[in-house]
Amino acid sequence: MAVPPLRTTGAPSGLLDVASPALVPMVEPAAATNPRTRLPHVIAWNLTRRCNLACAHCYISAGPWHSAAGELNTSTCKRILDEVLEVNPAPVLILSGGEPLLRADLEELAEHASAGGATVVVGTNGTRLTEARIRSLMAVGVKGVAVSIDSLDQRYHDRFRHGEGALGDTLAAVECLRARGLDFIVQTTVTRGNRGELAALAAWSAEHGAVAFNVYFVVPTGRGDRMRAMEPDENDAVLRDLVGLERIYRGRMMVRSKCQPQLMRHALAGDADSPLLNYETRCPCGIQYCRITPEGKVTPCPYTPVTAGDLTKASFGEIWDTSVVFQSLRTGALGGKCGRCEFRAVCGGCRARAYAEGHDLLGPDESCAYEPTGQVPLIQRRAVTYGTAFEAELDWAPEAAARLKAIPSFVRGVVTQRVEKFARERGYERVDLDVMVEVRRAMPVDFSKRLPFFLSKDGER
Ligand code: SF4
Ligand code: SF4
Ligand code: SF4
Repeated sequence: MAVPPLRTTGAPSGLLDVASPALVPMVEPAAATNPRTRLPHVIAWNLTRRCNLACAHCYISAGPWHSAAGELNTSTCKRILDEVLEVNPAPVLILSGGEPLLRADLEELAEHASAGGATVVVGTNGTRLTEARIRSLMAVGVKGVAVSIDSLDQRYHDRFRHGEGALGDTLAAVECLRARGLDFIVQTTVTRGNRGELAALAAWSAEHGAVAFNVYFVVPTGRGDRMRAMEPDENDAVLRDLVGLERIYRGRMMVRSKCQPQLMRHALAGDADSPLLNYETRCPCGIQYCRITPEGKVTPCPYTPVTAGDLTKASFGEIWDTSVVFQSLRTGALGGKCGRCEFRAVCGGCRARAYAEGHDLLGPDESCAYEPTGQVPLIQRRAVTYGTAFEAELDWAPEAAARLKAIPSFVRGVVTQRVEKFARERGYERVDLDVMVEVRRAMPVDFSKRLPFFLSKDGER
């Protein structure tokens, strides 16, 4: 099926609706009969635009002035959750906002999703994350929390987040998370103002028990559109630093870039065994990842405003399978320098940035410092990466198979492959729980002390 390129003529401003004549139609009926070849392994859900903060870079332009009007109600959210679980019974579901803790039904929704098989995590600014709230989230099966810390300097953090006392409240939340034993990720948005602090932030995060340190690069969308982004060579320098930090904390805490898949180029240059290479990038948006807005629109990722479908008018499965936006991201050829780049199979550039800057979802990501030369052969991605299906070939004991099924679909292929490789190397013909315990340290992210939420099963730490 030929997929039209996704280009719009107007400047992006908030969510673009497919009803707009500037966009291609949302659903191409012929595609409805296509078999499902891609699964949504990770779904980010912005449950609200309300937020107690008003950060300078916020992609969804959240703030205290928004009301709950227009947000999907609890029963509609549950209906959508059921539709998501029908498409993928074991997704990672990121409940976010705005500030998701402002939704009184957050726990009810998390419980519904978790009981249905999703691995539920909550993305929050952390300022409202009291011990009582942590307990209630844990009680409904939430497996992890991502909190935002942009600097350990209160003046910087509070100014960037537009909230006096924000840093103090978030640091208090981290202490509670640690005390209660709920996994957490530290998320930092890098700018010229804090890039010199990343190593210290990583050290602080590791020391405080974070399972991951994610560094976000600003995408010029939402309020981020008003920020002056770092130059490509500055991005490059930060990415190089992150590859170094990843090596330092490997086995203890993951270190990754977000919205800057060019990290893969540096990971390849720095270390052929890097676990970062287990990620399937090209960027996963629309391929194994999507976002739901507070009003029920589906987009490729939180930073991409192009609407793939409307959950008040079509089911999640219909949109996932038939949206022209998703078809284009899955099968369309990249343009500009990303299209001729040797790293396009492992990087592919940020599609949200390409759209924000050139109104073309498949266009070049000009935040990248690399200029393809045409002299280097195409760099291939690993055969099995996160999100790739891998059919078991060995005999699995029922209890081992059940444990495998309980982990998120996102990592299942990589874990299956690793376990079988490990078993074969030792001459085991059958995988049972003993083999799984033995293989634990050989998993894609080698957490020597305990498994993070995306690899652990209830009760196993
Ligand atoms: S970035 Fe997060 S904390 Fe900041 S305004 Fe947006 S939703 Fe709120
Ligand atoms: S489009 Fe950009 S922001 Fe969205 S998932 Fe891909 S890399 Fe991340
Ligand atoms: S040119 Fe595009 S595909 Fe190549 S490294 Fe840069 S962002 Fe990635």
